[in-house]
Amino acid sequence: MSKATKKFETEVQQLLDLVIHSLYSNKDIFLRELISNASDAIDKVRFESYSSEAILEGNAEWRIKLVPDKAAGTITIRDNGIGMTMEEVEENIGTIARSGTRAFMENIRGKDLKEHPELIGQFGVGFYSSFMVADRVTMVTRKGGHDTGSGCRWESTGDGSYTIEECDKESRGTDVVLHLKEEMREYLEEWRIRSIVKKYSDYVQYPIVMDITRSEPAKGADGKVIEGGGEIEKTVEETLNSMKAIWTRPKSEISEEEYEEFYKHISHDFEKPLKTIHYAVEGVSEFKAILYIPSHRPIDLFTREHKRGVHLYVKRVFITDNCEALLPDYLRFMKGVVDSSDLPLNVSREILQEDVQIKRIEKNLVTKVLATLAEMKEKTPEDYLKFYKEFGPVLKEGVHFDFANREKLQELVLFESSKSEPGVFVSLKEYVERMPEGQQEIYFITGTSREAVENSPHLEILRKKDYEVLFMLDPVDEWVTQGLTEYGGKKLKAADRGDLELGTEEEKKAEEAKREESAKQYKELLEFIGETLKDRVKEVRLSGRLTDSACCLVADQYGLNANMERILKAMNQEVPESKRILELNPDHPIMQVLAKLYGEDKESARLGDYSELLYDQALLTEGSPIKDPLRFTRLVSELMVKAAKG
Ligand code: ADP
Repeated sequence: MSKATKKFETEVQQLLDLVIHSLYSNKDIFLRELISNASDAIDKVRFESYSSEAILEGNAEWRIKLVPDKAAGTITIRDNGIGMTMEEVEENIGTIARSGTRAFMENIRGKDLKEHPELIGQFGVGFYSSFMVADRVTMVTRKGGHDTGSGCRWESTGDGSYTIEECDKESRGTDVVLHLKEEMREYLEEWRIRSIVKKYSDYVQYPIVMDITRSEPAKGADGKVIEGGGEIEKTVEETLNSMKAIWTRPKSEISEEEYEEFYKHISHDFEKPLKTIHYAVEGVSEFKAILYIPSHRPIDLFTREHKRGVHLYVKRVFITDNCEALLPDYLRFMKGVVDSSDLPLNVSREILQEDVQIKRIEKNLVTKVLATLAEMKEKTPEDYLKFYKEFGPVLKEGVHFDFANREKLQELVLFESSKSEPGVFVSLKEYVERMPEGQQEIYFITGTSREAVENSPHLEILRKKDYEVLFMLDPVDEWVTQGLTEYGGKKLKAADRGDLELGTEEEKKAEEAKREESAKQYKELLEFIGETLKDRVKEVRLSGRLTDSACCLVADQYGLNANMERILKAMNQEVPESKRILELNPDHPIMQVLAKLYGEDKESARLGDYSELLYDQALLTEGSPIKDPLRFTRLVSELMVKAAKG
């Protein structure tokens, strides 16, 4: 293929413009990013070589070479990693492959990103960070195991387009050549490169090398300096990093900064982590782990594209960075490394899923993470809250799925409530501790927003009794409530389901008697409304939960509530036909008016209209759409006209 000039995708160009013009006060990190990519590429070829040795081409002396060239004004980052085919270059460099990132770029205006550069850390700019220091970047790469004529040369000045062409490349791997901007020539200096590598990439497992030329006095064959022999130049390849895997070192010797840098290296996050956990396990299962809780959630956490972030090593050899079996889904936000001494080196990714050793490690990691979270909640509640706001909705999935750890998880979940200010959370323990006397159950309501549930008529009687109601506002809460049915011997009860049956036995009896009385009074009317609405509601009955509103809809104990219906629809799932119950407030003046109307003229068309209006009102107050808004407004207008006329 001859040389082709192609345009960057719009979003890539936006990203590049940001990188070039407005991001990062710290330009040094371009080197960390490129070294990380090189090290990842070596990880990959090393792993692939276990199943296919040909890919190595006899070249397994891993190294990342930095080549500054003062005359040309370039610095090259060279690796003998896996390399890329031309298609892979196009896929990885010219486009934004992850649709989560794309959607994010589309949604957010450039302006916001400039003001909040930390946002960009959420997806990392990796390779593109080269353009912070270079006005032209050339990449020459060849995939391992492919012939030497199938190399690919990619080049761009970062202003809208790039060129791509086939080329020869002898050795496997990738060269990234940065043509440094005039004012960035400091990155050619040996001391500058040394200090950046030491600071950001010291623990990289592979040697990061550079040719160092020193002049020294000429020596004779006997090794002695020749008087007046002048100076000669000598070049040696020096390794700049210690390569010491950070997790193998004792905790006491690792500084906070080193932990942070390692986190940034493996997570591609630009912010520091919220919490670091470093520990070793000996015995039946032996492994070392460094786990990090990030300080913010990645944008793709809830998409299928989200990749796991705990890397698996076996005896210091990288195996995979996406091992799903290492932690359950509800802890998928964790980053870090696990280095096992028990697994075989040639373990395949498929086998990992079923491996008993991995299962043991998983169990141990989960226990450790949950214990750390419990401790955080207790000792540094501000940090825990920060964590919870970012990852609470994910952690909560565990309440549903991880039966074995449910007890621990229910101590970790928090909710807003009718007695908390917006943004203030309450734990189940606190809830139970402050329950007023006489309250038997833990009440909750699910919904899409605080505003939507706060004013829900379903809470009227609970509020009157001064009972607190937990607000469950995340979609996952519908599943949480299926798993979490009891806490501390108290049942959890949905405010919009079934009968509420509040108070002591005596109070319940009195309430029951009162309702029976009203039921007699309104019997025929209820039947009439039930008949009118029979296609839409399962039953019409008098309510024990309303004090102010005229009506509301409730699900029966096991039926679908409005929120669940909304969620299923949003997930494009088939929503099973399920009718709810229309509850009417016997103490509301509307009831007397209706009863009077019914008593006077059972055939009145108005009765039917009013029944419809009641049903629509109930839908509107819970935030559900009504079927025929036109008819609704017509009826309301007619009523207004009538009322105005007196
Ligand atoms: P990230 O590293 O966060 O995925 P980059 O933009 O830095 O993002 O790189 C995009 C992709 O390009 C990488 O995921 C990798 O597949 C590929 N890539 C980048 N640098 C190299 C390299 N030196 N060798 C092989 N592949 C590379």
